[in-house]
Amino acid sequence: MLSRTLLLKMADSPLLRRLVESRGSVFAARFVAGSTLDDAIDTIRALNRRGIDVTLSHLGEHVHDPTAAWAEADIFCEALERIQKENVRCHLSVKPSQMALDVDKAVCESAIRKVVEKAAETGNRVRLDMEDSNTTDDILGITRRIHRNFPNIGVVIQAYLRRSPNDIDALNEEKISIRLCKGAYNEPATVAYPTKAEVDAQYVSLMKVLLKNGTLPAFATHDEKMIQAAIQAVAEYGGAGVATNWEFQMLYGIRRELQHTIADKGHRIRVYVPYGTEWFPYYMRRLAERPANVVFFLKSMLKR
Ligand SMILES: Cc1cc2nc3c(=O)[nH]c(=O)nc-3n(C[C@H](O)[C@H](O)[C@H](O)COP(=O)(O)OP(=O)(O)OC[C@H]3O[C@@H](n4cnc5c(N)ncnc54)[C@H](O)[C@@H]3O)c2cc1C
Repeated sequence: MLSRTLLLKMADSPLLRRLVESRGSVFAARFVAGSTLDDAIDTIRALNRRGIDVTLSHLGEHVHDPTAAWAEADIFCEALERIQKENVRCHLSVKPSQMALDVDKAVCESAIRKVVEKAAETGNRVRLDMEDSNTTDDILGITRRIHRNFPNIGVVIQAYLRRSPNDIDALNEEKISIRLCKGAYNEPATVAYPTKAEVDAQYVSLMKVLLKNGTLPAFATHDEKMIQAAIQAVAEYGGAGVATNWEFQMLYGIRRELQHTIADKGHRIRVYVPYGTEWFPYYMRRLAERPANVVFFLKSMLKR
């Protein structure tokens, strides 16, 4: 079976991207709400009816033209207006590289600021996704500077990174909301823990720190052991000094039944819903997280 590392490398292949995209978005349908904002709104409504909140993301990453960053900002601002008009329970998630982080950090920060400002006007929140470890300092810097004027911005911390305990302590001091995830990129062992056991151990340890000292923490995972650890930690702390405003988060199309079970038990859960046409790298990361998904992918390729 293809390894996680190989699948993540394949995500950067323009040839494979062209081949897969030319065969249509049937592959992406499991993980992506559709190509338009209307598709996304339908999905958000359905999830809200099921007791699940949403964080909406317009697909795209590694934009190399700074003017395209402003076009992305406009797409997010339009989504914020629509969320307000439709009165759905939905925040936003933004990837800094889709705002041209790789080529112009100043433009990236200004474009993100524009979106966060619009979110503040419409009573909403924006979270910056975390990308590979070369971007961690830049993304945290942008978050901090915007947070000084707009506390409605939050960020993501990856439990696999060795540096994350220090980052979490600093962000907690600044009362910046954190989504804790395990981490989805290919990283060297000097930077990130290489084994699942190590990543899981750091996830649980950071989750406890966030429950004690965090601001609106979100635990993004489909791992029942992590979910049980959070529920148990909240029960053990008995509410004393524990963030009461925390939530679980999962990805659209992954472990739907578990999402429903969590909502039915009365825990707050938010699902990350991506929409748009630039689904290839997002899709490849989902395959890499569970290489068994590759069987489904290959079968679909052969059928077409
Ligand atoms: C809301 C949300 C936002 C995220 N944002 C970021 C981000 O900004 N930056 C970043 O690096 N990563 C992000 N991630 C991805 C994250 O880092 C992990 O790669 C991903 O969540 C898989 O880890 P896990 O916690 O589910 O645990 P795992 O141990 O990987 O998986 C636990 C179980 O969940 C199921 N599962 C997990 N992934 C899949 C899949 N793709 N398909 C089918 N089943 C699956 C399997 O049953 C698996 O056994 C995000 C994840 C979520 C849920």
